[in-house]
Amino acid sequence: MRCLIAIVALSLSLSLDAGTLVFENVRLIDAESGTVSEPVRLAVRDGFIVDADEIAEPDAVIDDSGYLMPGLAEMHAHVPPMRVGDQQVHDTLMLYLAHGITTIRGMLGETGHLELRQQLANGEITGPRLITSGPSFNNNTVSSPSAARDMVRAQAEAGYDLLKLHPGLWPEAFHAIAETAEKLGIDYSGHISVAVGLDRALDSNQGTIDHLDGYGQKLVPEDHALYGTDPGLFAVNLVEGMDESLIPELARRTAEAGVANVPTQSLMENWAIGDIDALMEREAMGWIPTETRAQWRERVEDIRNRIPEGQGERFIEIRRALIGALHEAGATILLGADAPQILQVPGDAIHHELEIYVASGLSPAEALATGTINIARYLDQPVHGCLEPGCVADLVLLEANPLEDIGSTRGIQGVMRAGEWFDRKRLDQALEAIAERASSTSVPRR
Ligand SMILES: [Zn+2]
Repeated sequence: MRCLIAIVALSLSLSLDAGTLVFENVRLIDAESGTVSEPVRLAVRDGFIVDADEIAEPDAVIDDSGYLMPGLAEMHAHVPPMRVGDQQVHDTLMLYLAHGITTIRGMLGETGHLELRQQLANGEITGPRLITSGPSFNNNTVSSPSAARDMVRAQAEAGYDLLKLHPGLWPEAFHAIAETAEKLGIDYSGHISVAVGLDRALDSNQGTIDHLDGYGQKLVPEDHALYGTDPGLFAVNLVEGMDESLIPELARRTAEAGVANVPTQSLMENWAIGDIDALMEREAMGWIPTETRAQWRERVEDIRNRIPEGQGERFIEIRRALIGALHEAGATILLGADAPQILQVPGDAIHHELEIYVASGLSPAEALATGTINIARYLDQPVHGCLEPGCVADLVLLEANPLEDIGSTRGIQGVMRAGEWFDRKRLDQALEAIAERASSTSVPRR
């Protein structure tokens, strides 16, 4: 069984808005049962959903025939380091929120993010709730098992929500991290170092495996010439040696181990396939500063050059098969897109990620569950990812039913974060301001 994880970031003691608000004629999306309700009245008070009968005279009424779902969580997000300046940090947070993401798990934290987490929790800064890792554990930061133990203790003491594992760890260091983290009750998640391997991660209590790291190596049979050779970026060098018939067994083992996966598949798809010009010209790119866009282009061209000739499509196909098999086997999948990594626009990327889960074999409801109810369960936060009285009022109002077409999650009419309502106009104004700052020549039209 998984150890329970104490998440301070989602503490419920603070509410952002003391007012009352009622949604009239909204249909509620239930990702668990895959059903949508008849038009109902849903009431919000002090940042929580309450029984509709309790609010006779609300401060505000939103009368809309739209579809209401819990806010999404992005489990592999990145918050820029505070040294880049407040504006860029705030713009990144706003991009998440404007795309219906009300919780993010920052996967490369720093001291400044601890304060930011608090400011987001009490409403001083607008944005999603923040769960944050500390600085990463990797071959540079971890020189020995005892250094690893010290670093775990220091980060747990500092109040980070989880430990971020990066590549380059040796098994001895990994075991020292795992053992100390479990003793202290702190989650450790992220990459699987080549020397550690998937088996050790599955045999430990690692929280999440991110990017489907470690699986590619396990798909190469021991008698294949590529077995044990340099895997390259997420095992893309090994594609020719991968045997897809090994996927179901790996999926079954993952389900049995109870380790969750955060696939970040949209990142890999943008890296490996698709027309670079078309990717660069997407409307969402208008929110990304010009210099960053230029860097992204350069870096993705470099990544493409490192993918063995003609293997990109197959790489993506195998990864999609793995996502489908993990789901089929009952292994937990948690929504995460790794924005703002190269080509991944915060917020926008999560909708692409959802579309890919559906293309990989999940139903639209099951895809929505990866970003709502699955995450609430993973974090042991039952008042998140739900729409009943007592649940937090982190909500997304959609124009069309996402259970019929997952692409409908992009049609956002408004977002509520702890009771504070952001209608389409308010979101658009924020997005326009971000686009203007990003580039004086490229303002996206909405
Ligand atoms: Zn990342």
